[in-house]
Amino acid sequence: MIRALLEALGNMFRKPITVDFPFSPPQFVPECRGEIGYNAEACIFCLLCEKACPPGAIQYIRGEDGQDTHHYNTHLCIFCGDCVRECPKPNEALWQTNAPVFSTTDQTINKGWDAVENEAARTKREYKKKRV
Ligand code: SF4
Ligand code: SF4
Repeated sequence: MIRALLEALGNMFRKPITVDFPFSPPQFVPECRGEIGYNAEACIFCLLCEKACPPGAIQYIRGEDGQDTHHYNTHLCIFCGDCVRECPKPNEALWQTNAPVFSTTDQTINKGWDAVENEAARTKREYKKKRV
């Protein structure tokens, strides 16, 4: 009891180990698993990352010419890194940064995501039909 009281008194004069977020910037360890980076120039469009992604945070919309365009939803991403592990060109086409994403700020990507998913499925179906 006395020990607990002394500890409590001591804590009143110690600096808190917690961060006063959002007023102070949080500190992250270098191993922090953050946002996924992408470089279309190194990508070979194998779509393994799209298939590997558990929540469907990566989608490719296929153009008439068969060229895919990459879309990534940071609000859906759970930062598991499965896409990077599956990618045949890790650290060139796809990599995991240690930059965390605070997904409450910009909801633009999230709001249009249903349309992106539908378009990704539709364009791939159409492309397949044309090739049969
Ligand atoms: S880190 Fe995980 S959830 Fe995020 S895009 Fe990659 S596979 Fe999907
Ligand atoms: S797995 Fe890598 S190479 Fe394949 S589509 Fe995704 S980013 Fe491109």
